[in-house]
Amino acid sequence: MKPQLLLHICCAPCATHVVELLGLDFEVYGFFYNPNIHPEEEYRRRLEAMRRHGKAVGLKWEEGPYEPGRWFSFVEGYEEEPEGGARCPICYRLRLEEAARRAAEVGFGYFATTLTVGPTKKAGVINPIGRELGFKYGLTFVGGDFKKEDGFKHSVRLSRKFGLYRQDYCGCIFSLNGLSGRSAGVRPANPDLARSGARVGHSLGFHLFL
Ligand code: SF4
Repeated sequence: MKPQLLLHICCAPCATHVVELLGLDFEVYGFFYNPNIHPEEEYRRRLEAMRRHGKAVGLKWEEGPYEPGRWFSFVEGYEEEPEGGARCPICYRLRLEEAARRAAEVGFGYFATTLTVGPTKKAGVINPIGRELGFKYGLTFVGGDFKKEDGFKHSVRLSRKFGLYRQDYCGCIFSLNGLSGRSAGVRPANPDLARSGARVGHSLGFHLFL
């Protein structure tokens, strides 16, 4: 029997390749936890793509809480950072820590993330965070640079095959602003909600999709 691994999924397109690859050695369970995504309609769009992918490949996965307020409180003071700057490791850590916490909670020995599929996502930044969290939660972090060996290209091919929505910005409001050419520092539509720490949508815990 293969060991169980909880895979943090940043989006369905990135998950396609990594689920296939890690599925060779592990029993993979997905964990979609992305409070960075803005606005909420975009979050719903990416979640829908996840549902589609999960169904297409028979992946067991669950959605963590959508809690943008928590995300905004973590990155406060880093609003002006460019994509790939000092805000991103904080964003990675928040998402990976929730995955590690969840993996430990359900008794898995391994966890990983799809984040390194992204062409601009640096494995040298992400993997040390994963290893550190693995140590903290008593898990083994399965690191890698999943964009390599045509991993990213493969994810694009699989996304087309499954008809998945592919976003054109990283996820947060600041990366969205960068895309549209507007100045950084634009606040979310509902800053009170965003900064309150409120857990939007799934305050009762986790939802398992089988
Ligand atoms: S640019 Fe992407 S990785 Fe960086 S903080 Fe925004 S959502 Fe997170």
